[in-house]
Amino acid sequence: MSRGDGDRAPVVTPCKHCGAPIEQRGGRGRRRSYCPDRGCQAAAKREREIRRATPGLEGALARAEDLYERMEKGLANAIAPLAAALFALLLWLWHLPRPYRATFESDLLYWTMHLTLLASALCLWHVLICRERRELQRAVVAGIVTVVQMGLLGAAITLAPRLLYDPHVLTTQLWGLTPLEDQQLGGLIMWVPGCAIVILAALAAVGRTLLSPASSVQR
Ligand SMILES: [Zn+2]
Repeated sequence: MSRGDGDRAPVVTPCKHCGAPIEQRGGRGRRRSYCPDRGCQAAAKREREIRRATPGLEGALARAEDLYERMEKGLANAIAPLAAALFALLLWLWHLPRPYRATFESDLLYWTMHLTLLASALCLWHVLICRERRELQRAVVAGIVTVVQMGLLGAAITLAPRLLYDPHVLTTQLWGLTPLEDQQLGGLIMWVPGCAIVILAALAAVGRTLLSPASSVQR
């Protein structure tokens, strides 16, 4: 056995057309669905075209199946940028002084803030903790976008010369901090440890997918 493939047995999947076993290469590239040399991919494509052109229910089913597959693929491609964009939008929105203050005046807004931030953060982490090589690039881009936007927001809060969040005017003395120092500390926590965690997650995803053979991870 070659050293580069590690000591895992290679994964074998059936050809989607003829069912013959295909040995998946460990590592590079996407998984093969069809036999590489027997024209199965072209044959399967022709068959799908013929089925889609069939009149009646069978053709309708084939067209619906085709549409579903394309939607599934499109959704999988869209989820990483969507998660990063949604988290950025919500993080900035809820840290604007007015919406921030409003969460102290309304229980509904308070819980809306926490639940929307939590849900969007979970989506983002689902993307960041990617385990498949074909998802890695999108995960890394989502991580970079998040580090940039969260770093900017954290820096803006840390370096703001005046108080942004008046609900904390009277709450910080107990901790021995002026309201501005408290604001700077909050911004700094978002800026440095917050971004560091995302960077570590992205590096871990890179390490995990590069060190393990792609064939060992399946959906
Ligand atoms: Zn085949």
